[in-house]
Amino acid sequence: MLLVQKTPILVDLEKCTGTGECVTVCNYEDAILVKDVEVNGQILKRAVVTPANCTGCGCCVSACPNQAVEVQGWTIPQYDAMLDALAMDLGEMMEVEK
Ligand code: SF4
Ligand code: SF4
Repeated sequence: MLLVQKTPILVDLEKCTGTGECVTVCNYEDAILVKDVEVNGQILKRAVVTPANCTGCGCCVSACPNQAVEVQGWTIPQYDAMLDALAMDLGEMMEVEK
């Protein structure tokens, strides 16, 4: 596993295939872009995070079809569980408001 730490966000360059969903969902200009990156001696399209522009919001984590992005300190199952818990809380709040 080849992990590159830029910010709290980690991109696994061996799982990333340059599909770009992470770029599409990111609301922060140039926080994550697909660029030419050298991986094991080959130049390939890979997601690259710009630390100064990334807030660590984690939207790119759930958007990635290859589970190539991680928030530092969280495993993807932990992150998914956190999102599920937030969704349940939101659902309960909307029920209360009815
Ligand atoms: S969505 Fe995932 S696989 Fe696609 S470019 Fe971003 S990190 Fe790479
Ligand atoms: S963590 Fe948020 S701000 Fe940073 S690259 Fe991913 S979607 Fe963009």
